[in-house]
Amino acid sequence: MNYADIKFPDIQDGTGIRIALYVSGCHFHCPNCHNKSAWDKNFGKPFTDETIEYIINRFSENESYCEGLSLLGGEPLEFYNQEGLVKLTNKFKERYPNKDIWCWTGYDFDKDILNKMYKENKVTRKLLANIDIIVDGQFIPEKKMIDLIARGSYNQKKIDVQASIKTGKTVYLKFGDEHRYDGLTQKPKVILVKEFSKANPEESRFVPTQNVIEEYFESERGNKVFIPNQNLEKISAEGIKFKYKEEK
Ligand code: SF4
Repeated sequence: MNYADIKFPDIQDGTGIRIALYVSGCHFHCPNCHNKSAWDKNFGKPFTDETIEYIINRFSENESYCEGLSLLGGEPLEFYNQEGLVKLTNKFKERYPNKDIWCWTGYDFDKDILNKMYKENKVTRKLLANIDIIVDGQFIPEKKMIDLIARGSYNQKKIDVQASIKTGKTVYLKFGDEHRYDGLTQKPKVILVKEFSKANPEESRFVPTQNVIEEYFESERGNKVFIPNQNLEKISAEGIKFKYKEEK
């Protein structure tokens, strides 16, 4: 097994401040993948016991404010990556039973993982026993929304792995941002964002906009628009229907 990168601190992949391991090798080859160099399983450096020690030690030095470990790729659930990740996650959970592990995969959790790999493969069972949240599914550019939490496209789902194993059924997590897209057959045309006035930061309000293609863009009043996560969750819970609303 090889890995492409270790990122610390990482604030993009999961909640809070984390340490992230990007493994090498992925057969999915999604269009617009951000980690194409990691498609090759031989890319990067060998994943050894020293790598595990490094990750554990790095986390340990910063444990008080770090929330957990994130596994990305590449494809963490390629069979050739699973053994190494079992070793890492065993050690991580042994040392930090209250910290969480997130994992991103291109596989469909329900079909490919819970109802196949988990049933057929002992190593997968060991690995899943350590993972708290899986974000599943390939990245689909036509379904890309930049405001999704922890996902690139809205076909991807956040899954409570331990609850799924316990019940034998896939248990989806709702962080407040799924409801907008449930049951939709096409991309929403209007969402609400929060507009910040640079000149007067106190003066901010929710404004409607067309499909979001950039994280920052000019609003109708010429101000930069920024989308902070906590507001998105609030907005998301309100649905996609156009509804002008002053901030309370
Ligand atoms: S599954 Fe992830 S790493 Fe693999 S090609 Fe798709 S986006 Fe890239």
